[in-house]
Amino acid sequence: MSRTAKEIREDFLRFFEDRGHQRVKSASVVPSSDPTLMFVNAGMVPFKRVFLGEESRDYRRATTAQKCIRVSGKHNDLENVGRTPRHHTFFEMLGNFSFGDYFKLEAIEFAWELLTEHMQISAENLAVSVFRDDDEAADLWRDSIGLPGDKLYHLDEKENFWAMGETGPCGPCSEIHYDFGRPESCTSEVCDPSCECGRWLELWNLVFMQFNRDESGTMHPLPHPSIDTGGGLERWAAVLQGVRNNYDSDLFTGLLGRAQDVSGVSLGEDDEKDVSLRVVADHARTLAIMVGDGVLPSNAGRGYVLRRILRRGSRHGVLLGVEEPFLYKVADAAIDELGDAYPDLRERRDFILDRIKRDEERFMTTLSKGLQLLEEEIQEAKAQGQASLDGRTAFKLYDTFGFPLDLTADILVGHGMQVDQAGFDDSMQAQRERARAAWAGSGDEGVAEIHGRLAAQFSTRFLGYETTEAQSRIVALLVDGQPAEDASEGDEVEVVLEETPFYAESGGQVGDRGFLSTGSGRVEIQDTQKPLDNLFLHRGVVVDGEISVDSEAELCVDQELRAATVRNHTGTHLLHAALREVVGSQAMQKGSRVAPNRLRFDFTHDAPLSEDEIRRIENRVNEWIEANSPGTTEVKSYDEALESGAIAIFDEKYGDQVRVVSFGDCSTELCGGTHARATGDIGVLKVISETGIAAGVRRIEALTGLGALEHIRLQEKRARSAAEVLKVSLEDLPGRVEKLVADNRKLEREVERLRNASRGSEASDLLGGALEIDGAKILGARVDGVDAKEMRGMVDDLRNRLGSGVVLLMAEHGAKVVVAIGVTKDLVGRFKAGDLIGEVASVVGGGGGGRPDFAQAGGKDASKIDEAIARFHALCGVG
Ligand code: ATP
Ligand code: MG
Repeated sequence: MSRTAKEIREDFLRFFEDRGHQRVKSASVVPSSDPTLMFVNAGMVPFKRVFLGEESRDYRRATTAQKCIRVSGKHNDLENVGRTPRHHTFFEMLGNFSFGDYFKLEAIEFAWELLTEHMQISAENLAVSVFRDDDEAADLWRDSIGLPGDKLYHLDEKENFWAMGETGPCGPCSEIHYDFGRPESCTSEVCDPSCECGRWLELWNLVFMQFNRDESGTMHPLPHPSIDTGGGLERWAAVLQGVRNNYDSDLFTGLLGRAQDVSGVSLGEDDEKDVSLRVVADHARTLAIMVGDGVLPSNAGRGYVLRRILRRGSRHGVLLGVEEPFLYKVADAAIDELGDAYPDLRERRDFILDRIKRDEERFMTTLSKGLQLLEEEIQEAKAQGQASLDGRTAFKLYDTFGFPLDLTADILVGHGMQVDQAGFDDSMQAQRERARAAWAGSGDEGVAEIHGRLAAQFSTRFLGYETTEAQSRIVALLVDGQPAEDASEGDEVEVVLEETPFYAESGGQVGDRGFLSTGSGRVEIQDTQKPLDNLFLHRGVVVDGEISVDSEAELCVDQELRAATVRNHTGTHLLHAALREVVGSQAMQKGSRVAPNRLRFDFTHDAPLSEDEIRRIENRVNEWIEANSPGTTEVKSYDEALESGAIAIFDEKYGDQVRVVSFGDCSTELCGGTHARATGDIGVLKVISETGIAAGVRRIEALTGLGALEHIRLQEKRARSAAEVLKVSLEDLPGRVEKLVADNRKLEREVERLRNASRGSEASDLLGGALEIDGAKILGARVDGVDAKEMRGMVDDLRNRLGSGVVLLMAEHGAKVVVAIGVTKDLVGRFKAGDLIGEVASVVGGGGGGRPDFAQAGGKDASKIDEAIARFHALCGVG
C-alpha cells in the first residue's frame, strides 16, 4: 500500500519529532519581516534570524512542512509550471533544522534512514550530489553511510551551493536524487544529476548553513554552523506512489478532477491541453494559499503577483474552452485537499473563493477581446517577418485589457516571438505624463467638481519645510477618483489630510512619495498633487488592510528621495544664477523640472551654449557649492521681494505674500519649493546635456551629488570599454577612432568601385542565358543578395545591352524577395512590364506595378523564385 501525501507529511514530521525536533506550524507565505523577499520560498525563511544569531528560540532542532511560493526573485519557477513534471508555483517543503546543534553527520544519517528505512525507497534508486569542494560531506556519505562511489557526484556551485537570495544565509549543500534510469533520448556525455533529461528527480536538499553573504558578496561565517533541509512533498508523493509526474500523485487528483469537470476536457486528449489543465490546477492551488494568507489582488507588489497568476490561469481556461470564472471552483478543490493540514483555508473558504471569483470576473470582461487583438497583431507581425510584438500593442493590452506583460510574453513564446520591452516602458512613461497633464487640466467635469468641493471644505496645512514625518487626520478619501468613506487593500486612493509633510508637485518640483499608515492599514503614496490651492491629494495604493475617513495617520515621506530632490532644486537655483552671470540676464527661466534623479532647466537664449560657457557655468556653481552658503527663507510682500533683488519667474503667478529663498549672496529667488540647508549639501553639480527645444528656448540637464558621480563613472566605463575593444589607451582613443572612421570611408569607396566592376561582368554572364522569340530577347534570372536599388541599375543596364527584349531579375534579399522587369521601348506594344510583374510577383506572395517599360515589386516566399521565373518565361511565350 503506497502512502498518501497526508501520510507522508505526517510521517516526516513525526520522524523528526521522535528525534528531538520541535514541530513548528508553517508560517504564512507572506514573510513577516523581510523586505528582501516577496514570498516565503523555502522552509528556512521563517528561521532566517535564528540562523543569523539575531534571534533565539527555546529549541535547537525543529521540523516543519512549510508553504512555499516560487514566482519571483532568485527562485522563480513560473515558466516551468505545467511543462516539467516537478515544478509548482506553490509547493510544500518538508524540512528539519538544526540551529547550532547537529551538523553534517547527523543530517546525512537522518535523511538516509528516513528515505531508505522508513519510506522504504530502495537505495539502488538513489544518488547523492555534494558540492565540489566539500570533501567532508563526500567522506561522510562514503564512510558513514557506505554509499558506493558510483552513486556519489561532485557538482559545482550552481547545483550544490544554496542561497536564499542575493544576500543572507547560505552554504554548500548535498542533494538526494531519485534515479529513474537513463532514457534513450539522453544525449549528454555525462548524465549526472544536473542533467535535464528527466532521469533525475531532486528529492531532498541538505544545506549546510555556514555563511551569511552581505551586499558586497562577501561571506561571513555564521555564529554556529547549522542545518537546513528541504524536500518537496509533491515530489515525494510522486515517487512513493510510483508515478513520474507530481500531477499524477494523489495531491492533484481532486484538483485535476475539478479542472476536467469545469472545462469538459479530459487529460490525455492533447498534450497542450494537458499543460493547460496542470497550469490551472497549480495556479488555483496557489491562489487559494495566497488569498488564505491575506494577499489580495491589486496593481502593485504581492497583490500584482497574485493577479498575474490569476490571469495566466484564466488564459489557460480559455485554451481549454472555458469562458467564465472557474478558477475559484478549482481552488475549492485545493481547499478540500489542503484543509486538514492548513485549517485556516477551511475557515476562510468563502472569503477566498469570493475574492478569486471577483478578480476573475473583472478580467473576463476584457480577456477575449484582448486575446483577439493580440492574435491579429501576431499575424500582422508575422506577415511582416517581425520576431517581436511592438511595445505599444503590449502596453495597450496591459492598460486597456489588463494583460500583465508576462502573460503577453507567455503567449508570444508559443509563436516563437517576444515583446519589445523598451517600447512597452516608453508607452508606460508617456501614459504617466498624459495622466499628469489631464490631472492638471479640467477636462473632466466630474473630477473638477469633486476637487472644487473638497477645496472649499478643507485646507491642508503644509509642514514639509520643517519635517518629513508627522501625524494627522484623514479628512477625505477618493477611491478611483470618487468620494468614499473607506478603502481596502488594492484600492487606488487619494487621501486628503488636515496637515501634511508631503510636498505636492508645483514650481517644477515633483510631488513627494512615501507611506501613510493608520492603526488598520497602510498606503504607499506614489505621488502628491495639488490640483487646487491647499488641496493636497496624496495618491497611492492601499498595500495592507484598510483605511477610513477620520482616522489618525502616521505620515512618512521617503527621505532619501526628498533629500535627492532638495539637492536638485537648490542646484537648479544655483544653475539659474550662474547662467545669468555667464550669458546675461536676458536668459530667462521658461520652465524647470526637479526630480530626485535629475534636474532640467529651460531658458530663453538664441544660440547653443558653447563648451566654454558650460564649463564656466559649472565652475561657478561648484564654487558656490564649495563655499557652503547657508539657505534662508523669508516671507515678504511681492514688491518688497523684487526690490531686494529676488528673481521672479516671468510666467509664474504669485500671491501678495511670497517666499524668498536665498543662498548667501549667490542666489535669491521667489520659490515655494523645498531646499538644502546649505549649498554644500549638493556635493557637486554636473551638466550632462544642453539642447534646443523650441525657437529661442534651450534646455540644460544636470545631475548632482552621487548621481553626478555615477554618471561620470558610467561615461568613463563606456570610454574604457571602447578603448579595450580597440586595444589602445584612453589617451589614444580619440585619435584611433578618427583614423578608423577615415579608413572605413576609404574601404567603402573601394567596395563601391569593385561592386560596379563585378556588376558589369555579371551582366555579361546573364546575357548568355537570354532566349529568343520573334526577334525579341527574353531574359529571366536570379541574382540573390541584390537590393532593390541595385537591381534597378542592373535591369537598366541589361535592357540596353539586349537591344530589343524583356528582362526579369529576382533576388532573395534578407527575408524578402525583390523583383524588377524592364522592357525595351520598341517592344512596349507587345510586352507590358507593369502587367507582367503583377503575375510574377503573385507567385512569390507579393505584388507591385509600374510603367510599361519598367516595374518593380516585392514578395515574401523566396522558395518560389524559380517557379516565378518559369511563369515569366511562359507569359513571354518562351516557356
Ligand atoms: P530544482 O533544481 O528541481 O528546481 P531546487 O534546487 O530549486 O530544485 P531547492 O531550492 O534545493 O530546489 O529546494 C528544496 C526542495 O524543494 C527540492 O529538493 C525539491 O524537492 C523542492 N522544490 C523546489 N522547487 C520546487 C517547485 N517549484 N515545485 C515543487 N517542489 C520544489
Ligand atoms: Mg537544489
